[in-house]
Parts: sequence; structure tokens; C-alpha cells
Amino acid sequence: MTRCLDCGSERTADQCSACGLTSAAAEVMFRRRFLKRTIFFLAGSLAFPYVSQIYAPLDLDLMLVFFGVIFFIALAIAVLLDRWARNRQDLEVLKRIYAGFIPLPWILAATLFLNGKLDSPKKLTYHATTVVGRYNMPGVVRGTRRVFVRSWREGQKYERLAVDADDYDRFQSGDSVVVGVAPGALGIPWYYGVYRR
Ligand SMILES: [Zn+2]
Repeated sequence: MTRCLDCGSERTADQCSACGLTSAAAEVMFRRRFLKRTIFFLAGSLAFPYVSQIYAPLDLDLMLVFFGVIFFIALAIAVLLDRWARNRQDLEVLKRIYAGFIPLPWILAATLFLNGKLDSPKKLTYHATTVVGRYNMPGVVRGTRRVFVRSWREGQKYERLAVDADDYDRFQSGDSVVVGVAPGALGIPWYYGVYRR
């Protein structure tokens, strides 16, 4: 059994009896929507790392791993969809799974944005700690810079602070610092700043 690539109805002839498109026309329609969805997904995939640098959660690296998994699964589904559409295979289930992935980067970005934006600056807490290391990976957009400090959270050995280039250059291993942390309007604590003690 084959299904129309555009509307998903069962198709017995080359022309779909539900939407009237031929299989070639249905593929064109499918690809147009597929491209729009993919662009929307990719835009969100740029927005999320961007927002995550402005309101960086303390557990940013964990979130980035989660986001990376989402990104590569969606990419793999996109490649499959492209191949299956070319072979005019039944796409209905895969199309729906893909549609579920499309808003995820935007949801993550919006969560971090609201978490930071709606937070009250009065609720900042300051933690005295020590720098134990640094990490710098040049990246395509802005790169990844981390300053590692001893953690004040229970069950956590280090905090990997997502710092900007200035803060990265300012601190060395052994420096005594104070880390400002905001609680987050949605309960996700985020890194506000690091200061010399
Ligand atoms: Zn159709």
C-alpha cells in the first residue's frame, strides 16, 4: 500500500483521490513543507545556544548534550525522510515523529529565556569558591569557554561556569572568587557572574 506524500491518504492510482495530486506533485508539496519545517528547526538550533550564553544555567553542559542528541536524531530523520520521499515510500509515521522534533530547540530556548528574563535580580546568591581550571574550545559561532570552580552544591564536585572571553582571560587556577547565581524564574539556577574575592 502506498500513501499520498502530501495528505497521507491511501493511494491506489498515481493521482490521489483525496487531494487530487499526482505522486510527483505530492512530493513537491511534501518537500516544500519539509524545507520550511527544517529551516524553523535550524533557526531554533541557533537560538538555543545563543540564549544559553545570555542566561547560562549552571547545568548548561548537561543541557547542551541533551540538545545535541535531539539535533542529531532530527538530522538523521531528515535524511531518512529525504531518501524515502525520493523512493515514494510511506512517510506518515516518520513525518509525525519529525514534526514532534521541530519545536524542541525553540522550547528549550524559550525556557532558558523566560527563566532568566523573569528572574528577580534581588534573589541573587553569592558563593565563595576557588578556580580549579579553565577550558576553551574555539567554535563556529562564539566558542565554548568554561571556568571550573569548586562546587557549593551537594553531590557536585565542580561547577563549569560558561564565561565570556574577558572573564576567561581574567581568571587562573587557584584564584579566590565569588560566583553570583540567580535562582531562575522557572527554578533553573543560572550563572550570573564571577568576581574576584
Ligand atoms: Zn493526497
